[in-house]
Amino acid sequence: MEFFDSHCHLDAGHYGEDLSQVVLRARAAGVDGMAVIGTCANDSQAAIDFVKDHSGFVASVGIHPNDVGQALSTDWDEILRLVVSGRAAAIGETGLDWFRDSSPQELQRDYFDRHIRLSQKMGLPLVVHMRESTADAIAMIREASSRGTVRAILHSFTGTSEQMMEAVELGCMIGVSGMITFRTAQALRDVAKMIPSDQLLLETDSPFLSPEPLRGKKNEPSHVVHTARALAVLRDETIQRIAAVTTANAKRIFCVGSISS
Ligand SMILES: [Zn+2]
Repeated sequence: MEFFDSHCHLDAGHYGEDLSQVVLRARAAGVDGMAVIGTCANDSQAAIDFVKDHSGFVASVGIHPNDVGQALSTDWDEILRLVVSGRAAAIGETGLDWFRDSSPQELQRDYFDRHIRLSQKMGLPLVVHMRESTADAIAMIREASSRGTVRAILHSFTGTSEQMMEAVELGCMIGVSGMITFRTAQALRDVAKMIPSDQLLLETDSPFLSPEPLRGKKNEPSHVVHTARALAVLRDETIQRIAAVTTANAKRIFCVGSISS
């Protein structure tokens, strides 16, 4: 079985010296692909450098909505430089976060719009974070899709089934995280059950959101197997099929194998 963790943050700030062990444990668990997601200029560069030495891994570059308040204009220039270098597989993490107030809402919208336009211009997928902002984020994706194709990945999706279907119709991929294993997350499980197979992705969001039975521990890509198992039970499918489908989807959306190094 081969798994693909479509959303993780693997910079040394989170894992330090343990990072090479994290990768070994992932490979041992069958996680041969992962998308390492940047949240600022520095860790976007680090993601690019990291995946260069790891076959099957790809990097996404961007400035997280919670970080745009601190971003310098040179940070955005840095993101553009990384994209132009041809080594970024995706744009983001971007989006809207109405839960935390570390960045003004107007500034978040401005940066989300910049990331969307950049992804459209470059033909790269867009990694989207939404927290208490699902309707507004989907509205911006809808507006952008009237200008041209948007290949959005709604990571760790927590919206309603109606919002999920709306996103699916816009061509979005839907990321399922370890949250579906949380006891209180029944609404999320009901949504995860209905995501069309060809738009379904698995993710850890490492180092956050560790799934049961490892909740509370630092998350890492090898833990995606627990989420896959929960999803298999939910959807009444084999874990082999969940692995095959989500890995194929991830490789397709991130064009794995086509990034020059
Ligand atoms: Zn993230």
